[in-house]
Formats: sequence, C-alpha cells, structure tokens
Amino acid sequence: MAFSLAQQQIADRFDSDVDQKRWHDWKWQVRHCIKDVETFEKLLDVHFDDDKRKDIETTISKFPMSITPYFLSLIQTESLENDPIFKQSFPSVRELDILECDMEDPLHEDTDSPVPGLTHRYPDRVLFLVSNTCAMYCRHCTRKRKVGDVDSIPDRDQIKAGIKYIADHPVIRDVLLSGGDPLMLSDEYLDWILTELRKIDHVEIIRIGTRIPAVLPYRVTDELVTMLKKHHPI
Ligand code: SF4
Repeated sequence: MAFSLAQQQIADRFDSDVDQKRWHDWKWQVRHCIKDVETFEKLLDVHFDDDKRKDIETTISKFPMSITPYFLSLIQTESLENDPIFKQSFPSVRELDILECDMEDPLHEDTDSPVPGLTHRYPDRVLFLVSNTCAMYCRHCTRKRKVGDVDSIPDRDQIKAGIKYIADHPVIRDVLLSGGDPLMLSDEYLDWILTELRKIDHVEIIRIGTRIPAVLPYRVTDELVTMLKKHHPI
C-alpha cells in the first residue's frame, strides 16, 4: 500500500513513532482522528489567528470535528481555505448561522420514523440507521442533529426493533443501512445485522451508505470483504 510524502510528514508529526504498518491500521486511524484545532495546526503546520481559532472552537462545541489522518493528508495547504478536502472536513463559523427557514431534520427522516432509527417513507424501502459515528464528520451533513451525539447511539435493542419492523412488513424489499457510517461498526456486529436481514425472505436488496472508502480506505480489509461476500449481493 502506498505511503506518500504527505502521509510520512503527518505520521512523523504525531508524538509516537508511526510506521507504515500503524498508519495503514484503520483502528489506529480512528483512534487518532483530528478533533481539535491545535492538533490540526500541528499536523499540517498551519496557524490560525486567535479570532479564527475561537470561532472554530465555538463551532466544534456544537458540531464536532473529526478528520482521519489519511483524509487530512490529502489537504493541500498552499491554498488552504479553497482546498476541497479542507472545505468538506474543517468547521466554518457559518455553520452557526441558523436561519428561520433552516430545519434541524431537513429530510424529515424522523417524521417518517415508525420505530427509532428507521425511516419508512417509500413503501418498498427503508433507511436503517445502525451507527451514529463517522470516521470524518462532513460539514455538509444533513444528520448533524444525530452524528457524534453519544445520546443517539443505536443500541442492540434498537437495532433488533428495526429488524423486527422490517420482518413484520412484507412490502419492504430494499434496506439501506446508514448512520453515521455502518462501516464504523466491527465486522462481527455488522455481520450480525446482515445475517438477521438476510433471514427475511422479502428483503431482496441490502445497501450500505458509507463514506469510508473515501475517508478511511484502510477500513476495507480482506476480513471485511470476506464477511460482506457471505451476504452477497450487497
Ligand atoms: S459520512 Fe454521512 S452521516 Fe457521516 S457526517 Fe458524512 S454525510 Fe453525515
């Protein structure tokens, strides 16, 4: 697997000795996601003035930041404020401009939710939220009210209730797993969810909505692929 110069530089700026093996370990990446301004500045060797830093910190206190070291390594610092990776992942104080027309749940996912964590709007398909964490918190996320909120983590009972709802409604043939990011779950936990869904005869299609291949490609391990293949087609 490639180890670019930018990745090497960022790895070297972490306190610990970070070799290629550790860098490519997705769990190491998750443990070292960048969540504060100081670490961001240190790892990219950039500096914000006090006003800007204060604005960012205020924004993070409402909408958390999380950037994987991998995704951070793709940011081009020469034109930082215009860099597309920076814009997707780094907070802007403008996120706090809440207009009267803004909505907390702009897609009305909670309104069409017969059981917690499941949206059933179109007859034959459901959106099933099985995680509420993401490797990277997109600044444009439409589920900011939920992602990263420790009070909204779907537990096993909630997921069982969602699976029961799907099993009880033969009209459902398409299940979209989302979150948060379902690939933030362990292989074993995701395997359990997929196994339970595959037991339901009327479920024909299972999809996984994920940004992991873009923000944390090392998560796509041989073990994950082997597990997903058992439930083919996904
Ligand atoms: S990966 Fe999806 S759910 Fe997570 S922050 Fe990005 S848009 Fe939101």
